[in-house]
Amino acid sequence: MRGEFDLIARYFAPLAGDAPGSFGLQDDAAVFEPPAGRVVVATLDTLVAGVHFLPQDEAGLVARKLLRVNLSDLAAMGARAEAYLLSLSLTRDAPEAWVADFAEGLAADQREFGCRLLGGDTTATPGPTSLSLTLLGSARAEHVLSRGGAQAGDLLYVSGTIGDAALGLKVLRGEIGDLKEADAAFLAERYRLPRPRADLGMRLAEEALATAAIDISDGLVADLGHICETSGLAASVEISSLPLSQPTRAALGQDPSLLQDVVAGGDDYELLFTATPGTAERLEAVARELGCPVRRIGQMSEGSGMVMHDESGKPVEIGRAGWTHF
Ligand code: ADP
Ligand code: MG
Repeated sequence: MRGEFDLIARYFAPLAGDAPGSFGLQDDAAVFEPPAGRVVVATLDTLVAGVHFLPQDEAGLVARKLLRVNLSDLAAMGARAEAYLLSLSLTRDAPEAWVADFAEGLAADQREFGCRLLGGDTTATPGPTSLSLTLLGSARAEHVLSRGGAQAGDLLYVSGTIGDAALGLKVLRGEIGDLKEADAAFLAERYRLPRPRADLGMRLAEEALATAAIDISDGLVADLGHICETSGLAASVEISSLPLSQPTRAALGQDPSLLQDVVAGGDDYELLFTATPGTAERLEAVARELGCPVRRIGQMSEGSGMVMHDESGKPVEIGRAGWTHF
């Protein structure tokens, strides 16, 4: 593999292009100025080989996942992505083709989501490979969404479908058999490549449609728990109202115990948010306009903790509390 500076010039400088403040990745640091009247919203996520991805995973997909998990965090804040910093700790035996594919993945997604590379750091490590991305976004200060703004009586919504990625990981591990090939492929893809709800997050913020929001990375149960704790409220969720894809329904039809993974597994990268009942109509209209389905799944009330119940109101026990590292 060529040296650090050659790698930067060849693969990363093109991702900066003529982005103002990047200085072609040839200076000591970058300058970032948010658009007039907006504040900077910053987030950082790290992917470690063997923990978040497998060494044999396609580099372009790893790159896109790295950018997208950060985009999902900004979506949950209602912010717009602007620019990013990249830290690569690569093993000495990393083939140059891996770096080339990685940069190509970033190029595709920064075009799709509209942000530019501003700078970063490149180091060698005895292993494992570790990739960090700091994403800078912008928002109007008064529009920034938090986890703590929910009020008793607010309705609880989720975008898209939940559980697909958790089941997709099981499919990739060979832990779910008997699915149609197309269903298995759909679920695996949902795990491999998150779909951050960037546009929805921004609209929720700009139109003040949500009172609190979080992106579901650790599973519905755990992430709803965060909204409850931060907002100082309780939540109830009706199991039958959860939006499920057809492949997830097919998997549940074969093994109902997978419901556990659907509600407590991670990696959905959908938005979970609360809204006052008065905004329901506008919410539906925005969701239709964006082609991003949102579904009401429950509501917030005084108290603490969350309960899941069936249509008759009977509580349903969910054992696992979602993914944690330690
Ligand atoms: P320093 O020696 O001060 O750490 P570097 O040699 O690491 O500086 O970086 C030189 C330039 O290259 C800087 O502008 C830095 O932002 C950029 N850079 C280094 N690695 C990356 C990377 N992985 N992605 C984007 N820019 C990078
Ligand atoms: Mg450096």
